[in-house]
Amino acid sequence: MNRTAAVIGSGFGGLALAIRLQSAGIQTTLIEARDKPGGRAYVYEDKGFIFDAGPTVVTDPTCLEELFALSGRNIADYVELMPVTPFYRLMWEDGFVFDYSNDSPALLRQIADKNPKDVEGYNRFMEFSEGVFREGYQKLGHEAFLDFRSMLEAAPSLMKYQAFRSVYSMVASYIEDPQLREAFSFHTLLVGGNPFKTSSVYALIHALEKKWGVWFPRGGTHALVRGMMKLFTDLGGEVRMGQKVKTIEAAAGHVMGVTLADGTELKFDSVASNGDVVHTYNDLLGHHPRGQKMAKAMRRKSFSPSLFVIYFGLKKSYPEIAHHTILFGPRYKELLGDIYSGGALADDFSLYLHHPTASDPKMAPEGSSGFYVLSPVPHLGKLPVDWDEVGPKYADKILDYLEQRLIPGLRENLVTMSTFTPQNFKTELSAHLGSAFSLEPVLWQSAYFRTHNRDDVLKNLYFVGAGTHPGAGIPGVVGSAKATAKLMLADLGASDPARWPSNGGPVLEAAQ
Ligand SMILES: Cc1cc2nc3c(=O)[nH]c(=O)nc-3n(C[C@H](O)[C@H](O)[C@H](O)COP(=O)(O)OP(=O)(O)OC[C@H]3O[C@@H](n4cnc5c(N)ncnc54)[C@H](O)[C@@H]3O)c2cc1C
Repeated sequence: MNRTAAVIGSGFGGLALAIRLQSAGIQTTLIEARDKPGGRAYVYEDKGFIFDAGPTVVTDPTCLEELFALSGRNIADYVELMPVTPFYRLMWEDGFVFDYSNDSPALLRQIADKNPKDVEGYNRFMEFSEGVFREGYQKLGHEAFLDFRSMLEAAPSLMKYQAFRSVYSMVASYIEDPQLREAFSFHTLLVGGNPFKTSSVYALIHALEKKWGVWFPRGGTHALVRGMMKLFTDLGGEVRMGQKVKTIEAAAGHVMGVTLADGTELKFDSVASNGDVVHTYNDLLGHHPRGQKMAKAMRRKSFSPSLFVIYFGLKKSYPEIAHHTILFGPRYKELLGDIYSGGALADDFSLYLHHPTASDPKMAPEGSSGFYVLSPVPHLGKLPVDWDEVGPKYADKILDYLEQRLIPGLRENLVTMSTFTPQNFKTELSAHLGSAFSLEPVLWQSAYFRTHNRDDVLKNLYFVGAGTHPGAGIPGVVGSAKATAKLMLADLGASDPARWPSNGGPVLEAAQ
């Protein structure tokens, strides 16, 4: 008899899991509350501009290629990934600019110009990053940590790479110049982590980007989402779009299916949630003692900050502005303290500016430039303000700053603009406290201490996505899908195509 599974939520993690299950012959239904797939990787279109809502820096393309290779397909037939150079242009208020890429001679030249002593330190940091990448990402990035023993097994490597230290302190032990320290530590912000608190294991991002580069799908990140959706339906998967799950039905140690908001009851052999972990336990399973207990435990955890995002289109093109720019403000550690601990909306900011038309001009009308700018802000638990009131003023401040610092004529060329606030994360994505990246990626909330990929009590309930191991970011949630699929397929008695020698394996090996 056909075995069946439901995946609640079509974020990158949910989609990757659904593809893995369907590729292995499990009849899978993907249920998404919103009108379009992608979750945080949603898309907006206005006046000919295409705005990706969330992820824009695509790293580790091999984890995506593998999803297509599971069924003998080629990712290139579904979406075109274009290399982006520089990976990021880093800019400081004093005029210092650093083009960050995997072009080693160019990188070393820029380091030498800034502080010659740091060339040697950077080389040693690179060795550290490569080591932790092999141990932390390649070996453990897609293994589920279900029991404490698995954590103990990982302990020696965690100790070897001083996982108890922060990324920043590790970078600072190799690199002297304050701005170069920022250049090699800011990456954790892309997955919701404060470089001063996030485990040094996350220094692996540098090696990961160096090895596989930074990519952008032609047409935008949502073109990748659509490619994955097409793969899933080509494989025979069923999609229920615009249908919110109201409850996960559970009794006596297992789940039986889901009930949708419109009252439709659907039965499945297994259910996986890609939704927010607090939302899943509290709202979808709040009728069951397990849901109540876990929701209470989850609420005590520390959640990543939120983001304030402005999507805007200009009727002028700015070819000199890089695809990805980080604009560092006057403060680094102190600003992060305001965002992560203090709960203050600071007067200054550090911004990430996305300029997709730098890589794909077709994402805006001819002669125009599309952008989004994001500012990390405290989540609603730390800063419970009315964003409908605060948002417009904050947006004005950010746009003024951008106009003055990088985009002359911004106001007079503005043709479209919209914002996404912490309140929108909460209402549109059911994100606890409006967090943009779910649980904060700190050591005591990692691996075994993160939401388990399979619930400990409800044996056929699974989790996938940013709140589970290994965590947020596209490679993270796609890795979590691999870990969760392994468990589900073993529990359902299906064979895992990832282990078939003619499919996933060689693609990865060839890329390494
Ligand atoms: C602005 C922004 C920029 C980012 N930039 C990058 C980047 O450049 N590179 C990178 O790698 N990462 C980036 N990230 C992080 C990355 O986007 C996320 O970690 C990742 O996309 C989260 O995927 P997920 O699988 O956890 O699912 P999510 O994207 O969180 O999706 C979950 C889905 O579940 C659905 N859902 C929830 N509850 C229900 C329910 N009851 N019924 C039905 N459906 C439900 C939601 O509607 C949603 O579609 C960024 C994040 C943000 C917010």
